[in-house]
Amino acid sequence: MASNGIPSVVESLRKSFQSGRTRPLGWREGQLSALIKMLKEREGEFTQALTKDLGKPQFESFTAELAFVIQEAVLSRKNLRKWARPEKVSTPLVAQPGKSEVRKDPLGVTLVIGAWNYPVQLTLAPLIGAIAAGNCAVVKPSEVAAHTSALLAKLVPLYLDQECIRIVEGAIQETTELLDQKWDLIFYTGNGNVAKVIMAAATKNLTPVVLELGGKSPCIVDSDADVTLAARRIAWGKFYNAGQTCTAPDYVLVKDSVEAEFVDGLKGAIREFYGDNPKKSPDFARIVNQRHHQRVRRLIDGSGEVALGGEADEADRYIAPTVLRNVKADAPVMAEEIFGPVLPVLKVKETDEAIEFVNSRPKPLALYLFTRSSQTQEKVVTRTSSGGVCVNHTILHVANPNLPFGGVGASGMGAYHGKASFDVFTHKKSVMSKPNWIDPGFIYPPYTEGKFGLVKKLI
Ligand code: NAD
Repeated sequence: MASNGIPSVVESLRKSFQSGRTRPLGWREGQLSALIKMLKEREGEFTQALTKDLGKPQFESFTAELAFVIQEAVLSRKNLRKWARPEKVSTPLVAQPGKSEVRKDPLGVTLVIGAWNYPVQLTLAPLIGAIAAGNCAVVKPSEVAAHTSALLAKLVPLYLDQECIRIVEGAIQETTELLDQKWDLIFYTGNGNVAKVIMAAATKNLTPVVLELGGKSPCIVDSDADVTLAARRIAWGKFYNAGQTCTAPDYVLVKDSVEAEFVDGLKGAIREFYGDNPKKSPDFARIVNQRHHQRVRRLIDGSGEVALGGEADEADRYIAPTVLRNVKADAPVMAEEIFGPVLPVLKVKETDEAIEFVNSRPKPLALYLFTRSSQTQEKVVTRTSSGGVCVNHTILHVANPNLPFGGVGASGMGAYHGKASFDVFTHKKSVMSKPNWIDPGFIYPPYTEGKFGLVKKLI
């Protein structure tokens, strides 16, 4: 898009919003239906784009991108009228007679900035919230997943209302220009460094922000866990999309007494999932680009003993599912979010040591705990802070639309999915309505002792 196009796009969306076009629930339901139709009719094109961008296995494209978004849209369309209904609340004695309610107002013209690792889900799932709540939206897909970005720019205008919903493609220059505009909400998914740029830009107009970030999501494996099953479930969550998942298990803290059994379990699971040569498996994705390939490769070097994997082929953007053993807390691989198919395993002696380790680092997006003990479960869940927790599995909590999804501290602010998506794009407007037939005088000056006494009795 020509750079002078951005202000006029935003201006035209603002006019549409002010005209009331997005307010009727019928318009919102119609747009959600059109979104579902687009994903169903164009499934093949989306799958192809995702293969080109990330070598995404078809199964993963379907489950985590297309089906995920369709389910969100169906749920939202089904519940929209209930969620949008004003909520009547009681009115206290001092304000009687009167009626009070909470209205669900759309925020206005919103900006959604997506990341590359789930380029369909991370753009369209927030858009569902924006539409359901009655907003206009500009969606800026990540330029890093270029094929998917181009496809969204081609298809969205064919299905959705262009007066209210626009795709703007681009990289830093275009995003910077978008951030110069006035928005009613900025919904950003990506890394914490860029989040600071987003938040700084938002301060200019006091624009609220939702920041969906990442971090190093730990797994804690206790000695009383089903260790082999834990290894299988961790391997699945880690190597799904070749580790390029914001909630992927980043590292494992395992009780030293079961470490060897756990590493054996990982090896067995990786062989079961991807065969003896994962490079040949159609079920193992690729690293998104050379820059990230080199970054992940560097993290493997000098970070401990390679127990499995370690092979890489830059031309194919391939990095083998890799397990690192005897990793030190200060190793390079422990210094940043890995975001690739490399799993460091660290030994701990006690559950308390694992809790302290997690609590001494920035708050993660997800925490995974493997134990049979409900006491340990309660202890770890209560004493740690993370965006979410999944006990005895990985990632699956994200697939429950009844659980709000979002980070805390360094892993972000604000949450969405299901009703939370509607809520995060909604302003809860308090409305009190008073009748004219009576006007109790005790609230007005002069504040006599009698009035003061009455107020004290009422409160
Ligand atoms: P990315 O490179 O695609 O960047 C995200 C968005 O920010 C893109 O649209 C990009 O154009 C824009 N951007 C980049 N630099 C910018 C700048 N200087 N100014 C303005 N905009 C800019 O994605 P990424 O940041 O590499 O994504 C990976 C990170 O995102 C990881 O930390 C991951 O954990 C996190 N993530 C979080 C979630 C979540 O839902 N919480 C989901 C996916 C990824």
